Amino acid sequence: MSGITHCARCRGKLHIYGSADGKRRFICYNRTHGKECRQGSAFLSIYEEQIERYLETFHIPADPQEQLLAMHRKAQTSFDDAMAQRSRIETR
Ligand SMILES: [Zn+2]
Repeated sequence: MSGITHCARCRGKLHIYGSADGKRRFICYNRTHGKECRQGSAFLSIYEEQIERYLETFHIPADPQEQLLAMHRKAQTSFDDAMAQRSRIETR
């Protein structure tokens, strides 16, 4: 998440910093480098829990799930065929 998330106040990148108590914090890069931002920091675990709860709301319906599995099987078969052909060519 570090470097790809942005501060809600100044849009600066958020970075993870360790603290003396061993807990990592998420804080605005601009704030830590003397630029004008008053956004407070928070423990990284808070954000991780929020993202985990958000991801738990994702549900892939049965049909797309089957389609993805079929695409995966087809890709795997193509890869296996290509590897077999490569092996035959290399043994000539
Ligand atoms: Zn900021």
